[in-house]
Amino acid sequence: MSSSSSSSGSVEAPEHEAQLTERRLRRLCSHLTPTAPPPRGADRLEMLACARAARLEVDTARLSEYMRGKHRGIQEKVYEYFNSRPDLQTPLEISKDEHRELCMRQLLGLVREAGIRPFQYVLEDPEKYLAIVEAAGSVDISLGIKMGVQYSLWGGSVINLGTKRHRDKYFDKIDSLEYPGCFAMTELHHGSNVQGLQTTATFDPITDQFVIDTPNDGAIKWWIGNAAVHGKFATVFAKLLLPTHDARGLADMGVHAFIVLIRDMETHETLPGIEIHDCGHKVGLNGVDNGALRFRSVRIPRENLLNRFGDVSRDGKYTSSLPTINKRFAATLGELVGGRVVLAYTSVGILKIAVAIATRYSLLRQQFGPPKKPEVSILDYQSQQHKLMPMLASSYAFHFATLYLVEKYSEMKKSHDDQLVGDVHSLSAGLKAYVTSYTAKSISICREACGGHGYAAVNRFGSLRNDHDIFQTFEGDNTVLLQQVAGDLLKQYKEKFQGGTLTVTWNYLRESMNTYLSQPNPVTARWESEEHLRDPKFQLDAFRYRTSRLLQSVAVRLQKHTKTLGSFGAWNRCLNHLLTLAESHIESVILAKFIEAVQRCPDASVRAVLKLACDLYALDRIWNDIGTYRNVDYVAPNKAKAIHKLADYLSFQVRNVAGELVDAFDLPDHVIRAPIAMKSEAYSQYTQYVGF
Ligand SMILES: Cc1cc2nc3c(=O)[nH]c(=O)nc-3n(C[C@H](O)[C@H](O)[C@H](O)COP(=O)(O)OP(=O)(O)OC[C@H]3O[C@@H](n4cnc5c(N)ncnc54)[C@H](O)[C@@H]3O)c2cc1C
Repeated sequence: MSSSSSSSGSVEAPEHEAQLTERRLRRLCSHLTPTAPPPRGADRLEMLACARAARLEVDTARLSEYMRGKHRGIQEKVYEYFNSRPDLQTPLEISKDEHRELCMRQLLGLVREAGIRPFQYVLEDPEKYLAIVEAAGSVDISLGIKMGVQYSLWGGSVINLGTKRHRDKYFDKIDSLEYPGCFAMTELHHGSNVQGLQTTATFDPITDQFVIDTPNDGAIKWWIGNAAVHGKFATVFAKLLLPTHDARGLADMGVHAFIVLIRDMETHETLPGIEIHDCGHKVGLNGVDNGALRFRSVRIPRENLLNRFGDVSRDGKYTSSLPTINKRFAATLGELVGGRVVLAYTSVGILKIAVAIATRYSLLRQQFGPPKKPEVSILDYQSQQHKLMPMLASSYAFHFATLYLVEKYSEMKKSHDDQLVGDVHSLSAGLKAYVTSYTAKSISICREACGGHGYAAVNRFGSLRNDHDIFQTFEGDNTVLLQQVAGDLLKQYKEKFQGGTLTVTWNYLRESMNTYLSQPNPVTARWESEEHLRDPKFQLDAFRYRTSRLLQSVAVRLQKHTKTLGSFGAWNRCLNHLLTLAESHIESVILAKFIEAVQRCPDASVRAVLKLACDLYALDRIWNDIGTYRNVDYVAPNKAKAIHKLADYLSFQVRNVAGELVDAFDLPDHVIRAPIAMKSEAYSQYTQYVGF
């Protein structure tokens, strides 16, 4: 359907129909003729001339240098490998089965041919591992996930939940892909509620084996990555049952993880007692072979229990350094946070690609303009800036926040410090939930911002959206994860009032809870100067005030409702409030990390452009939630108006450097791939693609 008939009438002066048609044809021809795009900055709306501040000069190379993590080198190696192997690039049209095979070949090529061995870094250098997964995900998200299944989930469970004997036996062969494996936790009837899963592992003291069983259809392992085609092993999560000498017969020791060989090492045939089916074609990620598994009295040696947190001796005695089922369960799941870190980090990479495509295209694309003047770039429209510029600023914000998460995660893996474990657990849950939800929404906005050309599969939004969508659900459903964050905040809150200490991520609550207890200052509530609104102290105080207020009020509500509804009912009564609290907290952490990144940047011009993006991030978020701030008189009406005006103006300023900001992501054309986002000759690459 053409969109021009109604919109053009309101923008152009009435003309004779023939003239109009001719003019449209000329425009169309000019789009389809392979010419270089106009230089950045040309043909902008005249409003630029009356801009209040000069355009910032951006040294893209220096900005890029500052943004780069320590491991850019290995990412370039991944990009180069796939660039040199066109046969390993995923075509737009590919069947599920071909995609699965290609994805396996991509992984094998990377590991065996390019010599990139991700598993070694899972242990030695998690930051490097994450850089590899992110780069692989940029090539094909299915590849990033397939890699994650092999090394974070299957491999990660062996090295994190097992002990030396498991590492010695499995490490090298997981690393080299001789042992492709799965992580079989989810069941048909139980996804988020892992403690409710029903698969059993019963110890048989006579044969010194565990017997794995699927007791009913609801306990069939479902959605298991690598299971439908390639996996040889699975880490199976099951309730450990031990025979007792009393009337109980069997004692349930809680959920434990077991290594189960599911296919013959030589023939690849499914082993007796195991039934595997394909979960079928999915909305996205069809390069990953998800399967369903049923076990019928499958016997495995006792040594296959991953026994770091609980063990069974030859005579059937259970030992653990952790006293309760709940503590063991928490420790087991705690070791698996790596998967969330991977998703948060990779999601930012996907957001950058989507934003880069939409921004570059919006700079190139010209529609309408002032009477008798050349058409203008669509990024000059305030509405387009409003859609894309806060998103561009957010990709920078998330970049620094997830880098921080990765650093903390690496530290945690080395130190095993208890406080850090708690922090990383909550931070990874919160950032994974917040960032993946944001990216999922943003990809659709980017598609729409690119009009009809955003709908062409070659321009990538379709596959990015479909492949990324499930990031919101796996490795912990986002709504469930945010509740964990809220739960942690409440725990910290309670401890604070009992005189306890706050862990690093929540330190800010100490101060801001005190501030909260005093009413908002009616004088500062009216301050509206640009200097004040761009002061990081004002911004951070505003974010933290909101979090503290939400925390205090939900704590009071929970206490009240618990008396009548019990704790489960009270939690449910306050659920939306709790989710808002968790998001608010995560936004506070993201802003704090962005401000720190701006402040420690040694280069003044790079710092200035980052500060611009950071201010936009902060003010856009405050404006989005202005009702909350107004309701409690934290900002007076004049200040609310000033925040809105300044956020629009900053969007406009970011627009002036938008090209440079996306260039600084340093994503080569062969990684971005969308013809409409090529740095040069985008239209001609696009026309060539369809055959002109
Ligand atoms: C492509 C794909 C790959 C996967 N790979 C694997 C894998 O390799 N291994 C593996 O073990 N699993 C895998 N999974 C499973 C995945 O981890 C689960 O889908 C996920 O944990 C969510 O569980 P569920 O689908 O049962 O959703 P549910 O838990 O049933 O959730 C459904 C809805 O209910 C809501 N909900 C649930 N509980 C609550 C609550 N307490 N409060 C409020 N709302 C709630 C959720 O927000 C969600 O919207 C995969 C799934 C997919 C789709």
